[in-house]
Amino acid sequence: MTRKTDEQLGMHRSITRRDFVQGSSLAVLGAVTSGAFSVTATTAAEAASARTPGSYYPPTKTGMRGSHNGAYEVAHALARQGASFDNPEDTGEEYDLVIVGAGISGLAAAYYYRKRFGNDTRILLLENHDDFGGHAKRNEFHQGGSMVLSLGGTHNLEWWQFSDAVKDFMDEFGVDVKAMLKNMDFDYGQSAPNSPAMWFDEDTYGVNRLVPRLDLNRRLTADTIDLIPISEAGRESLKAFYGRSDDVFAELSESETDELLSSISYPDFLRKYGGLTEDAVQLFDKKEHGAWGIEMRALSANDALWDDNPGRHLMGDEWSYEGRDYPAALWPDGNASLVRLMVAGLLPHVAPNVTADNVALAKFNYAALDEPEGAVRLRLNATVVNTINTETGASVTYAEGGQLKRVTTKHAVLACYHSVIPHLCPSLPEQQKEALKYQVKIPLILTNVLIRNTDALDKLGVDGINCPGRLHARLFLFRGINNGGYDHAADDSGPVSLVFWGSISPPDDAIDLKSQLRASRQKLLDLSFEDFEREVRTVLNDLLGPEGFDVNEDILAITVNRWPHGYAYEYMDLWDPDWAEGEAPHEIARQPFGAIAIANSDAGASAYTHVAIDEAYRAIGELPHNSETT
Ligand SMILES: Cc1cc2nc3c(=O)[nH]c(=O)nc-3n(C[C@H](O)[C@H](O)[C@H](O)COP(=O)(O)OP(=O)(O)OC[C@H]3O[C@@H](n4cnc5c(N)ncnc54)[C@H](O)[C@@H]3O)c2cc1C
Repeated sequence: MTRKTDEQLGMHRSITRRDFVQGSSLAVLGAVTSGAFSVTATTAAEAASARTPGSYYPPTKTGMRGSHNGAYEVAHALARQGASFDNPEDTGEEYDLVIVGAGISGLAAAYYYRKRFGNDTRILLLENHDDFGGHAKRNEFHQGGSMVLSLGGTHNLEWWQFSDAVKDFMDEFGVDVKAMLKNMDFDYGQSAPNSPAMWFDEDTYGVNRLVPRLDLNRRLTADTIDLIPISEAGRESLKAFYGRSDDVFAELSESETDELLSSISYPDFLRKYGGLTEDAVQLFDKKEHGAWGIEMRALSANDALWDDNPGRHLMGDEWSYEGRDYPAALWPDGNASLVRLMVAGLLPHVAPNVTADNVALAKFNYAALDEPEGAVRLRLNATVVNTINTETGASVTYAEGGQLKRVTTKHAVLACYHSVIPHLCPSLPEQQKEALKYQVKIPLILTNVLIRNTDALDKLGVDGINCPGRLHARLFLFRGINNGGYDHAADDSGPVSLVFWGSISPPDDAIDLKSQLRASRQKLLDLSFEDFEREVRTVLNDLLGPEGFDVNEDILAITVNRWPHGYAYEYMDLWDPDWAEGEAPHEIARQPFGAIAIANSDAGASAYTHVAIDEAYRAIGELPHNSETT
């Protein structure tokens, strides 16, 4: 095998702003110094540029995005190193509500607060990233001529799970899910004749080979299995597995079967009851990186089977899988459009006349997000380090532009990750702090690669590919979503984003789920933009190069959205007990504390947009009336 050099892979090419972003990410780091402790964070220049008309527009930034450099250093110093941040400057600003975190939950909390306490209330949102939206971020590309939109994080509206409160919320913002669905021709890369395909890479499997129409959830034929470059014994074990009709648990009752399937991992189920060899089991390892965000070994057989992974045919069932049907509604930038609708509703002067029909194209004036006279203010690049109850409400301290500052408020809502809350709010009861720490978020990675054209993919007849040996386990073309005023044909041949999507495999020695999540997170943080760039260039060269794709010429931009704190932790068969109602960690964690209430999707232990909204609704309902806080 001859590996390509960096030069051959085009690493030297000056794709738009890569060099600028990597260099400047360090340049913008300044020091927040408090007492004996000093950490790097976004400087005053960066913070101030957020308020300069026209010059500040984060969605077009490429390079390392998501949890970008400069966003998390202060929080890590606080939570990981126990830094203390004392003697903040009192800004003299007073609010009715201060919200920590301007993700979907924080923005929804602002909306519900105004509903409950009136539109003349003064609200400040503090957000540690350089853009609003939390996970719901938009990547905007202009490198190929006209604007190409893609997801930076949160993708779908899972509308069938909406509560009545969320349905009302969507109605109020004019979000018509049925209309959105009609305007979509997108199915995560399953439309092309040979999709979904599986790509076996030379580094892992000794040969570069694309196998068309290989979906492990479907009943595979012997001909297809013969193309899989694993051992002969591995292929035979697959043929036997997919060919069987069995009832291996015939002797067990339904509840015994259920108990057994909930107590073993899916890979163990495949080994023990499916008869698969190790190299055949490996094909499944990363299969749930996108949907669950975890390695297959962390999933119980029950959870995996519920998610259509094969095996029911060993338990007396007929094969019934007809292909993935996930009828979610999307905007062309994922739920960033929902965020933009909320921001435009709360701060109309930032984006006037925005509706659900034009939101994807609307211009947002970031310089006007934090105007002193605004009833609602949104302050970016500001990391909250302390929130305490006071006699009149609460006081909130944050680091911004290398300085520590304090504001006072009648109410506060913590809409940030739960694991950081014990550090922000050390006076919380110990039991609540323990419950908050239970929430270890799931790391995710979404890398947009703007490719000049889809010619090579079209030759192969694929628009979605699984890559069981690579860092990103799934690729799909992102197009065909005509919502929010944006038009994008389902057969757009480019420039278009090829999304590299998934999570990061933990090392083998990380045994329990939380060790796996923490190890994956560290691996993700340790990877540089160049590591990701080399990876996508290697994959595209080896996968598409033979069909004429030139990694030197045909990659127009790369944006890596890393989310070390991604999906909210959801309770899982193998790792969590069944708690009695009211005793689950998230239920203890989200209890109000004086003038402080707690939101975020973590509060619902469920990684969904509608949950983030429901939890904001609950949190605002739990705030005491102003008179009760004094
Ligand atoms: C890649 C990805 C894909 C996803 N896809 C989907 C999907 O398809 N459908 C779906 O429903 N859900 C999806 N999710 C789940 C997503 O988490 C939720 O839908 C929703 O966006 C969560 O919103 P939130 O406000 O609860 O949390 P967040 O979006 O995490 O917002 C919390 C905000 O608080 C900020 N914060 C944290 N600490 C501080 C501090 N100390 N000071 C100031 N600010 C702070 C954070 O930086 C963040 O911006 C996805 C998530 C990711 C990462």
